[in-house]
Amino acid sequence: MSETSRNYIDGEWVAASTGETIAVRNPAEPDEIVAEYQQSGVTDAVEAVEAAAAAQTDWADTPGPERGRILREAATTLGRRKEALTDRLIAEEGKARPEAAGEVQRAIDIFHYFGSKAADLGGTRKASSGRDVNLYTREEPVGVAALITPWNYPIAIPAWKLAPALAAGNAAVLKPASLAPGVALAVTEALDEAGLPDGVLNVVTGPGSVLGDELVEHDAVDAVSFTGSSSVGEAVYRQATAAGKRVQTELGGKNPTVVTASADPAEAAEIVAGGGFGTTGQSCTACSRAIVHEDVTDDFVDELVSRAESIDVGPGGDHEMGPQVSAAELESTLEYVDVAVDEGATLVAGGGVPDGDAVETGHFVEPTVFTDVSSDMRIAQEEVFGPVIAVIEVTDFEEAIDVANGVDYGLSASVVTDDHTEANRFVDEIEAGVVKINEKTTGVELHVPFGGVKRSSSETWREQGDEGLEFYTIERTVYDN
Ligand code: NAP
Repeated sequence: MSETSRNYIDGEWVAASTGETIAVRNPAEPDEIVAEYQQSGVTDAVEAVEAAAAAQTDWADTPGPERGRILREAATTLGRRKEALTDRLIAEEGKARPEAAGEVQRAIDIFHYFGSKAADLGGTRKASSGRDVNLYTREEPVGVAALITPWNYPIAIPAWKLAPALAAGNAAVLKPASLAPGVALAVTEALDEAGLPDGVLNVVTGPGSVLGDELVEHDAVDAVSFTGSSSVGEAVYRQATAAGKRVQTELGGKNPTVVTASADPAEAAEIVAGGGFGTTGQSCTACSRAIVHEDVTDDFVDELVSRAESIDVGPGGDHEMGPQVSAAELESTLEYVDVAVDEGATLVAGGGVPDGDAVETGHFVEPTVFTDVSSDMRIAQEEVFGPVIAVIEVTDFEEAIDVANGVDYGLSASVVTDDHTEANRFVDEIEAGVVKINEKTTGVELHVPFGGVKRSSSETWREQGDEGLEFYTIERTVYDN
């Protein structure tokens, strides 16, 4: 029997008004139900927002050091439960164990990081003024933040929204992705145990298509932070701005690694394989295009194919690469394989479902490489969100930059080169929010801002680092005569 989790509203664990639940299945073993979650309706979303609105002012008035203590204590609790959280993450989302453990650790680190900053937030700053006027600025929380998160980093992304929002004195309503809500609820439990006052955080599970309107448009919501697909996120952005909310969207990517003529083909293949096949290609920053100079293409492709073919695919707990998160995501990847073949690309590795006992029933797919890809093909333009790398051959560095920039997205980009001038030109000319030299496109540190350009992000706000706090903070100017 699997457990049935509840919503968390106004400090109570409660059933949804619909009386219905959603089953979350193990993507490596879809017959196994990991847990049931509440299938919330509009009434539950409204209750969650109202509880947050009622609690927000007292939380904003709570001294920063106390807010920080609660966040740090929750981090310590999560640290004690790291192994169980890693297991739950693997069971619901499918990541390989080192990736899942790394993600849990990232969430712990994020709560420590923003917990230690909280004491310094919400202060006043005196400004120069005439003798009779006391002129100063005050940092204040925005108010109630609605946080909507995807399944692919089911603990790290809720953490990187919740920790700065709460540290800065906001109340929050979190709606985690329906495919993997378990670890976000575990974070909630840790905050509850650490003494977070009732109503400051409220969590409702259930379909975004049902709950989204209230979370985005309710009068009591002041800010909306959304991470997910560009199609849903752009609609949320329009809806939230029309309703007068502060809004932040972090969306899809079509991330390139440019391999220049001076690159070592083996090193380049290692970097591209790490970025493209890690987390089963299900990262917003995953490398899905290798843009390779013709002088090194053959050697690079040989190296990349040998890496693709040597990856051990199976249940994420014990294998190098886990499954895709759902049957729908697997089907979508396999459809892209068919589209690429129809458009004339050459399949040189993978492209199908692996054989063997370990992978008989799960949503597994082979690490896949295409060559002879031209930059106008769909495989070179659209986010696949599976372990599929399109190799695009170019004749010079200028063409590489044109191809790299010739997509709607601009999240992460990397270059592999032995030439420092080329590296500097890449940094200057590439259209991406995160730029890397001789590193894979995936992976970001928590103390630096993260976000993209073009269709990858609403560019006004960044997440993580000090910049991550700005979205949750308003600076007010006071003239006291
Ligand atoms: P998604 O389908 O857009 O869902 C994201 C969240 O939005 C989920 O909680 C979903 O709820 C909710 N949602 C669905 N319809 C909604 C609506 N009409 N109004 C409000 N919320 C709604 O994305 P996903 O498949 O979970 O995540 C994968 C995508 O996220 C990829 O495109 C990836 O690149 C992107 N991503 C971006 C970043 C970044 O920082 N740039 C990081 C990670 C992932 P349900 O789960 O109930 O449908």
